[in-house]
Amino acid sequence: MNTDTDQSGELDELLREVSDRARPAAEDGEVADYIPALGDLDPRRFSLAATEMDGTEHTTDDADVPFPIQSISKVFALVLAMQKADQGSGVRDELWRRVGREPSGDPYNSLVQLEREQGVPRNPMINAGALLVDDVLLDHCDDARASMHALVSELAGEEVGVDEAVMQAERDTASRNRAMANLMASFGNLTHTVDEVLDLYVDQCAISMTTRQLARSVRFLANDGIDPASGRRILSSTLTRRVAAIMLTCGTYDAAGEFAFKVGLPCKSGVAGAIVALVPRRMGVCVWSPPLEPSGNSLAGRVALSELSARLNLSIF
Ligand code: GLN
Repeated sequence: MNTDTDQSGELDELLREVSDRARPAAEDGEVADYIPALGDLDPRRFSLAATEMDGTEHTTDDADVPFPIQSISKVFALVLAMQKADQGSGVRDELWRRVGREPSGDPYNSLVQLEREQGVPRNPMINAGALLVDDVLLDHCDDARASMHALVSELAGEEVGVDEAVMQAERDTASRNRAMANLMASFGNLTHTVDEVLDLYVDQCAISMTTRQLARSVRFLANDGIDPASGRRILSSTLTRRVAAIMLTCGTYDAAGEFAFKVGLPCKSGVAGAIVALVPRRMGVCVWSPPLEPSGNSLAGRVALSELSARLNLSIF
């Protein structure tokens, strides 16, 4: 007879096998090096974490090593904006007038589309879109930075911090992000100063978390909007589905088609090499391996998620 403990042990073993298969792929990727804190990341770091709805955690390797969550923060920022939208404060119409929800097919930090499309970013998962969401949050939160930290810490089940060195370096190298914010401002699609928006953006990129914490933190998106740890509804069912849809179509930038094809789960990546994935009604997953593909997604991370999805038959399609 198969007991819960047996099944849990089987998943531990499967994660180990998936990790063993994926880890070598990292050799063909490149660690982001636009700031020292990322360039110095050990390319051999690796971990895979899966948290089930009942709280059971399965992890391999460096599951408790923190790293900057970078663009994974774009999911939490969007969730906050959606929360505001759900409160009927008019944010919903404003949000979707000012940012789209189509995949970009361009690199995450491209300026080209933004110019062609009159300063309206394609979606909230690329840099321009995240800057726009931050501008909206500055309008609708008393303290957007504090709200973001409170949300992420609640979901992680413990206080999460910011890596100050990463934040400073992000700010010092933000020329391209600054250019995007300026371009949006020139089209009248920014209500705060470029500096105010950038301050919030670099802060969220520098939030420091582990794969274990990230796997926990995204579970509510796989659970109809309810955080299984507390039972608290974070987002309505409808809006939760929308966040997941945007992750699926836009969360891994111009590789979103490849991710849908191979992994078949809503995902979001960050340039430090982490990728979160949602397994509806089952678990939150996070993989971390710093070397990236040209699209800016973790190479071994994609291999691990493809393998995990194939082995457990997880594709939503
Ligand atoms: N800090 C990075 C940037 O703004 C985040 C991008 C990412 O993680 N893909 O360029």
